[in-house]
Amino acid sequence: MKCELCDSSRQDEIQFGSFLIRYDKAAHLNCLILSYGLKQRGSDNVDFNGYLFSDVSSRRRYFYKQSCCYCNERYANLKCANKHCQRLFHFICGIENRARNQYVKPYFSYCNQHVTKPKYRPKSTEFCCICYDNLFDESKRFCPVTMLRSPCCRDNWFHKLCIQRYALEGGRSFRCPICNNTEKFRKSMLLWGVFTHDNPTEEEIFQEHMDHLIVMRRELFEPQDEDEPLVAPLQIDPPLEINFNHDYHDDYDSDDYDYDYYDYYHHNRFNNYHYFQTPDEKSKGFCIGLKRFCCVINNVLCHPFVVLQQQSQINVVSKSYHILPFSLVPIITKLYRQQGWLVFWKGFFESLCLKGVSLLFRNLHFFDEMPFIYVGFKGVIAVIMFVLKVNGLKMTVGTLMLPNDNIIGCGSKFWPLFFIYLSLEFAKWTFSALAKKITRALFRNKSTERRIIAEDQECTMQTDLITRIITETVFYPCETVLHRMLLQNTNTIIDNLDTGTTVMPIFTYFKGTKDCFKTTVGMEGYKGFYKGFGGLILQFAVHAAIVKIAKWLS
Ligand SMILES: [Zn+2]
Ligand SMILES: [Zn+2]
Ligand SMILES: [Zn+2]
Ligand SMILES: [Zn+2]
Ligand SMILES: [Zn+2]
Repeated sequence: MKCELCDSSRQDEIQFGSFLIRYDKAAHLNCLILSYGLKQRGSDNVDFNGYLFSDVSSRRRYFYKQSCCYCNERYANLKCANKHCQRLFHFICGIENRARNQYVKPYFSYCNQHVTKPKYRPKSTEFCCICYDNLFDESKRFCPVTMLRSPCCRDNWFHKLCIQRYALEGGRSFRCPICNNTEKFRKSMLLWGVFTHDNPTEEEIFQEHMDHLIVMRRELFEPQDEDEPLVAPLQIDPPLEINFNHDYHDDYDSDDYDYDYYDYYHHNRFNNYHYFQTPDEKSKGFCIGLKRFCCVINNVLCHPFVVLQQQSQINVVSKSYHILPFSLVPIITKLYRQQGWLVFWKGFFESLCLKGVSLLFRNLHFFDEMPFIYVGFKGVIAVIMFVLKVNGLKMTVGTLMLPNDNIIGCGSKFWPLFFIYLSLEFAKWTFSALAKKITRALFRNKSTERRIIAEDQECTMQTDLITRIITETVFYPCETVLHRMLLQNTNTIIDNLDTGTTVMPIFTYFKGTKDCFKTTVGMEGYKGFYKGFGGLILQFAVHAAIVKIAKWLS
C-alpha cells in the first residue's frame, strides 16, 4: 500500500514513523503531520488520526503536480520553509538527503541547504552517548541533521538515529539519557527532527515536576544510614515557581543561543499557513518571468531556421542536404531579396498554437478521479495537436510565391499517421525526461555547494538546452520520415532550397512509413535523414545565445 501523500510504500517505524492503514487508504503519520497545507481538523479517532480523508485526497491531487527536488518524482509533499527557497521534496527523500523536519507547530521542514547551522561542532573523536560508536561516518564531515548535541548537558553528542530509536522506546518518558532533563531536551529534539508520537500533556509535565520535587525532598531528608527508618514527614508545597509558558530564551546563556529557537519563535509570529500561501516570490518570480520571456523570444527567433530546416527536410529530390548551416547563408539572402522578411515567419502562428496545446496536453492532470473523461479529453487535445501540426507544417513549408490550397487535415490516411505522430511525441517526451534527469544529475555533481535561486534557474535553462539538443538530434530521422509522410498528397508547393529563387511541388509516392524509410535510404542514403539539420543547428545556436543572455541578466 502506498502513502496517500508521498506515494511511497516504504515503511520503517524508526526512520519514517508509523504507517497508518484505514480501509483501503494508507499514510505515514509523519506525512500527515508535515505535509504543507494539511491541517488536523477532526478529533483523534476520525479518519487518519483526525486528518480527514477529504482533506488528504485534495492535498494528494495538489501534490501530484509537485515534483521532488531530490528524485524528480511527483507527489512532493513537503516544502522548504526558508522564504527564499521553493524546493519541494518527499518526506522520505528529505530524510535521506539530510533535510530537517520540525515536529513542533507549525511543523516546518527545511531542505538540506537551509537547515540552520549550529554553533557547536563535535571533535573528530567525538562518540555517540547512546551507542558509543564514533559520531562521524566515513565522510568525516559534520552534518547538523544527523549529529545532535544535547541541549541540556553540555557537549554530549548523539546520532540522530540513536536518539530517534531511544525516543520511540521512551515514549512519554522520553528524556535526556545523560541528565534526565525532560522539557528542554524534548522540545529541542522535536525541533531537530526527532519525533515521538506520544507527547505528554501539560498535566503530565506538571506531575513530572512534582515527582522530581518529591525525590529532591526525600534525598534531603534521607538519613545517612540506610538501616534507620525515614523519620521526616513528606510535606510538599505547591510548586508555584514552575511556569509552563515561560520563554525558552531565558534558559540560554548568551553563548548558548540556539538558532533553531530563534527560527521557531520568529516564524510563530506569523500565521503558519498564511506564510505558505504568500511567500516572498520576488526574486523567484523575476527568474520565472525571465525564463518564460526567453522561451517566447526563443520561439520567435528560431522560427526562420525552422522554416529552412523543414523545407530542406521534406525535399526528397534536392541536391544540397544542408546538414551544416554554412550552405544556408546564401539561400537566406536570396529568399529575403525575393520574398521579403515574411518568408521566414510562415506558419509561425500555427506552430505557436501547437506549442501551447502540447503544453496543455502534457500538464493536464486534474481529472485524477474520472479516468474516462480524462482520457477522452486528452484524446481530443491530441487530435487538435495533430491537425495543428499538419497545418503548421504545410504553412511553414508552403511557398509564398503561389497560393496553396488550405485543406485541413492531411492528404493521406489520417488515423495511422495520427498514431505514428502521437507515439513519436510520447517517445520524445519520455526520452527527453530521461535525458533531463541524467544531465541534471551531472550538473548537480558538478556543483554541490550552495547555489542561489537565480543560478538554479540558469542551471535548468542550460539543462533544458542540452536535453533539447540530444533529443532533437536523436529523433531527427524519425521526424524526417513523419514530415514527409504528412505532406504526401497535400499538393504543397515549396521553395527550392537548392537555388533559393525557384519553387517546386512535392510529389512523393510512399506506400507507407516503411516504404518512406526504404525510399529515403535508396535515393539519398542515410545522410538523407539529416537533410536540413543545419537549420536545427542554427536553432540550437539561437537557444544557446539566449541562455547566455539570460544568465547575464539574472
Ligand atoms: Zn508518506
Ligand atoms: Zn523524492
Ligand atoms: Zn530550502
Ligand atoms: Zn549512536
Ligand atoms: Zn542532558
